[in-house]
Amino acid sequence: MSAKILNGSELAKSIKENIKKEVEELKKQGIFPGLAVIIVGNDPASRLYVDFKKKDCAEVGIESFEFALDEKTTEEELIKLIQQLNIDSKISAILVQLPLPAHLNEERVINAINPDKDADCFHPFNVGRLMTGNPLFLPCTPAGIIELLEANEIEIAGKECVVVGRSNIVGKPLAILLLSKNGTVTVCHSKTKNLDEVCRRADILVVAAGKPELIKGNAIKPGAVVIDVGVNRLEGKKLVGDVEFSTASEVASAITRVTGGVGPMTRAMLLKNTVKAAEILDIKNKKAYN
Ligand code: NDP
Repeated sequence: MSAKILNGSELAKSIKENIKKEVEELKKQGIFPGLAVIIVGNDPASRLYVDFKKKDCAEVGIESFEFALDEKTTEEELIKLIQQLNIDSKISAILVQLPLPAHLNEERVINAINPDKDADCFHPFNVGRLMTGNPLFLPCTPAGIIELLEANEIEIAGKECVVVGRSNIVGKPLAILLLSKNGTVTVCHSKTKNLDEVCRRADILVVAAGKPELIKGNAIKPGAVVIDVGVNRLEGKKLVGDVEFSTASEVASAITRVTGGVGPMTRAMLLKNTVKAAEILDIKNKKAYN
């Protein structure tokens, strides 16, 4: 069997076209979405991601404001900047590029972001809202995966969904979203016993472990849908996912590639959150003046 490729690039492109129209409409109403992107230090991968995000914003007419801070920036300085952005009317949403240098406490930094401007949906207030089924924003990677499944008419309700990875960014919030769509969800991690056996139960298998080609075709149920979140650069610079594509694509009915799959969807969801944040800010401003 040769699996259908779930094309995130194509879908993200059409989502971005819609966002662009939405942004044009908002601007006519005097609402100007603006995303603040904070990067601390010189990590090349972080720099690349920030550049992508700025380019995406420009494509859809969202203004982005970059704050590139020195590697030695203190937590106090960083939090002070966030507090200024929290009350800056030009800034609808704030994103702190992770990981931060080791001397900075990511949790304290994230907690400093105004939850109404939480572009990544990492703030505990927004995580709580997600947990209780009333989300303000959706976390970008998990939301992108759900949109990719739904756009390809892959039913989640009643399906056995296995998520490999339990990070706060991908695995855990994705499990909550799949559950909210009535999937039957199992979450695996580094202490899971018989991982392959658990994966073989999945109708929908999502792998976000950050381990090159951890899951091979023999751990996939014939006909399953496989979403590979992992992005791993091997020593020879080759990019591979957390799933061995060559063997998995022989067994799965549909699968994402390491590029053009989840990544572009994640980026599109960030734009969605920024637009939503601009609308929230506008509503709150109007309330404050009335
Ligand atoms: P983390 O390192 O934060 O979490 C990895 C998770 O995988 C942990 O829960 C860990 O378990 C689990 N894990 C690690 N090894 C194994 C194993 N051998 N068997 C089972 N579970 C294992 O990673 P992230 O969630 O942030 O990211 C995961 C991958 O997704 C990375 O490659 C990252 O680059 C990529 N990514 C891609 C995005 C995109 O848009 N394409 C967005 C975000 C991430 P434990 O908790 O027990 O340690």
